[in-house]
Amino acid sequence: MNDIILLKLGEIVLKGLNRKSFEQKLMSNVRRRLEPIGKFRVYCLQSTVYVEAQEDGADMDAAFAALKKVFGVIKLSRAAACEKDRDAIAALAIEYLREDMERVRSFKVESKRSDKSFPLTSIQLSQYVGGLLAEAYPNVQVDVHEPELTVHLEVRDLAAYVHATPVPGAGGMPVGSNGVAVTLLSGGIDSPVSTYMIAKRGVRLIPVHFFSFPYTSQQAKDKVVDLGRQLTEYCGRMTLEVVPFTHIQEEIRDKCPEEYFTLIMRRFMMRIAKRIADANGAKAVVTGENLGQVASQTMEAMASTQAVIDMPVLQPLIGMDKEEIVTLARKIGTFETSILPYEDCCTVFTPRHPRTHPKLKDVEAAESALDIAALVDEAVKGIERIRLDHE
Ligand code: ATP
Ligand code: MG
Repeated sequence: MNDIILLKLGEIVLKGLNRKSFEQKLMSNVRRRLEPIGKFRVYCLQSTVYVEAQEDGADMDAAFAALKKVFGVIKLSRAAACEKDRDAIAALAIEYLREDMERVRSFKVESKRSDKSFPLTSIQLSQYVGGLLAEAYPNVQVDVHEPELTVHLEVRDLAAYVHATPVPGAGGMPVGSNGVAVTLLSGGIDSPVSTYMIAKRGVRLIPVHFFSFPYTSQQAKDKVVDLGRQLTEYCGRMTLEVVPFTHIQEEIRDKCPEEYFTLIMRRFMMRIAKRIADANGAKAVVTGENLGQVASQTMEAMASTQAVIDMPVLQPLIGMDKEEIVTLARKIGTFETSILPYEDCCTVFTPRHPRTHPKLKDVEAAESALDIAALVDEAVKGIERIRLDHE
């Protein structure tokens, strides 16, 4: 008999009529996530998604670790199965909950029974197993009012289950339940975190990277591919769009005043992002901007960047401290890759004295020597697409 994994749904249970489609989305994300790990059956009952191995030796540890990163799950737990016999259930509980029972001072047992032919009522089963657990762990008291540990038992059609203590899930909403957005992914610390944060709100993401070969190296691109792959743990499978950006940067360098280089470059990024969004039904662009962090992240600079795009620019890191961003980057596992020392296209042609409080009409005048439409077309035509999948 196989162990199972139980996923408690988060916010989506609040969503009334949408709930069914959210559950479907979550289940299909879970199925897709488990594909490389093994064969599992995934189904939903009363706001809980059950995951059962369908082959012997399925790697439940790997499945559990993967499911901790699936958005839309607020809590998850494992349960061990045994035959539907009160002594078998008690023996399993004593064995399976050893670590928990040695850690706490008080406990109670709660049982659920969907198999109504089971000879004991839920209360009788709780009392029976509770008694044997208390005997096996004499230092732990039964406390039905404020127990440190609640042991959950469940008698279902094919087996009985003893549940382990739940652990927190990734929270948020299932990816794909809230539309699609383009996310600008550099090799830095911030944009992987902003990507994660918007995916957490249920948005499916299309990562876009601007690549300035040979000013930035193949390694810089590989680093972004690595970051994208790491993010698939949370975001699901994605296709990275790598935009050739060299010609645009050279044109800016040759034809525009130096103090506007970064601003003009960022306006090109937005125009190209918008083209990719339109081609994919995406309704917003996500960036890792953070108020005041660098010269291009003042309110005036951001206004001049966003003036070229008529869709929301989502900046989930806007009010965070660097410290908080780094903590999140470490938590999601992107930090170590982000700090690898390869150049980004933004650092290649950095002006010595960037405009920090630009006026829109001056930025427009500064880029007026460029054939903007032709440059955008050329970049979009040269896009390389890279599938990002789970390892
Ligand atoms: P990050 O740590 O994400 O690189 P940053 O602090 O270096 O951000 P900027 O260089 O101003 O800040 O970039 C702001 C945002 O613009 C980035 O967070 C990212 O969303 C986007 N961006 C910058 N460079 C690139 C690039 N080469 N390709 C794709 N997006 C980029
Ligand atoms: Mg950067």
